[in-house]
Amino acid sequence: MWKSQTRSYDALRARLDTLPVIETHEHWCGVCPPDENLDLLALLAGGGYYASDLASASADFAKRARPGLFPISPLAEYLTDTRHHSFDQRYAAWRTYHERTCHTAYTRGLFEGLRACWGLESIEKKAMLAAQERMQAERNQACADRTLARHGIQTMIVNTDLTAVMAGSLPYRKGFARFVLDLPQYHALSGEGSVRKPHLEAALNRRIVTLDDYLEAFERFLEQAIQFGIVGIKDQSAYHRCIAYANPPRAEAETVFNRIVAHPRDSLGTDQVRPLDDYLFNQFMRLAARRGLPVQVHTGHMAGICNEITKTNPAHLTAMLELHSEVQFDLFHGGWPYLGEYLFLGKNYPNVTLDMCWANAIEPLYSVEFFKRALQTVPHSKIHGYGGDTHLFECAVGYLILARDNLAAALAEMVDAGWLGTDEALAVARAWLFDNPNRTFRLDCQPGRQPTPARGGRKPRTA
Ligand SMILES: [Zn+2]
Repeated sequence: MWKSQTRSYDALRARLDTLPVIETHEHWCGVCPPDENLDLLALLAGGGYYASDLASASADFAKRARPGLFPISPLAEYLTDTRHHSFDQRYAAWRTYHERTCHTAYTRGLFEGLRACWGLESIEKKAMLAAQERMQAERNQACADRTLARHGIQTMIVNTDLTAVMAGSLPYRKGFARFVLDLPQYHALSGEGSVRKPHLEAALNRRIVTLDDYLEAFERFLEQAIQFGIVGIKDQSAYHRCIAYANPPRAEAETVFNRIVAHPRDSLGTDQVRPLDDYLFNQFMRLAARRGLPVQVHTGHMAGICNEITKTNPAHLTAMLELHSEVQFDLFHGGWPYLGEYLFLGKNYPNVTLDMCWANAIEPLYSVEFFKRALQTVPHSKIHGYGGDTHLFECAVGYLILARDNLAAALAEMVDAGWLGTDEALAVARAWLFDNPNRTFRLDCQPGRQPTPARGGRKPRTA
């Protein structure tokens, strides 16, 4: 926990722990099978955002860090190779590089989670091994359920392989994990394989030959997903392209589509497929409007290392926000580092909500600044205060602790400045953490409700 020195902080921070929380963005399904061989160093280095900081700080470990998403950097590769390197060897290497990045918020969030969940108070080898032993023995479904409930997380909106979830091949915690449809794969088409997805042709019940076939197939699949219970659509194209979508004529898109299906062994370049990409995005936004599905859009900072930030500026979305005024857009990640533009969009467009998922763990100071400035500029009904955007319940918990710290610091400062009273600040925090996402995504979540057990998961051992 990090704390503000403002007068109202301690009282407000304590009361924030009593508020229910909706996680607006996650990548795991709430299922936590036991693992008696769990390796803590491999877990630290195996993925997630802390691993990005480790990769960023260990360019000299072996030549240089590799660009990519969730980097398997040479250091991460070494730390996860439990077959060839002993714990002692790996611990020595990890400690060297951990100490270079031990003050970042990613590190703080992860280790807050390990402390809260497993009592890990130190990075000494003995303490790490003791935590690892506890995790091997006690980490299971019941433990994850209890921990999330203890921290007030009532439900979470999950972005994962939806087709696998719908097919029953990816277990999930029913009633707790709610899903969004992952959109980029449906409009970023570069070759025949990306057009003729088996589940789309299955939904259409015939071969996709024309652009009309493709649109019909997507609409049918979307209908299946709605029947399954999705609560929105998620688009993270910002990783791969500038989010300034144009509105090209259908003929241009159709020309690209016809070229793709007529030359099944070709792979087209980004510029060549752009008219089709943009056209499909617009068509899908029309469907989202018709079906009343909110659309979560990645803006700002990207996971991994070595990517280009300017293409993710939320201001690039302006034309889409105006054209698709019936779509409720939920703009992600605090738009980090584009705070001014991000606040403007939330203030200016009735169909925009601002979502601080992940942002609280990217930069607490930015988040505090955001919450303070948002209070003065954006109706407080339009802010979503927390989402983990992680793969582990320990990270979700650690990031939530950071989010509550950030919220308390911002709101306490505004209370002490006389901008609002303590009870009003608490009401704002409750809206940001629970009421607003509950309303935006029509979750109908009741505070205090205990989720039902996971569907299809391995039977948990008792803790
Ligand atoms: Zn994410």
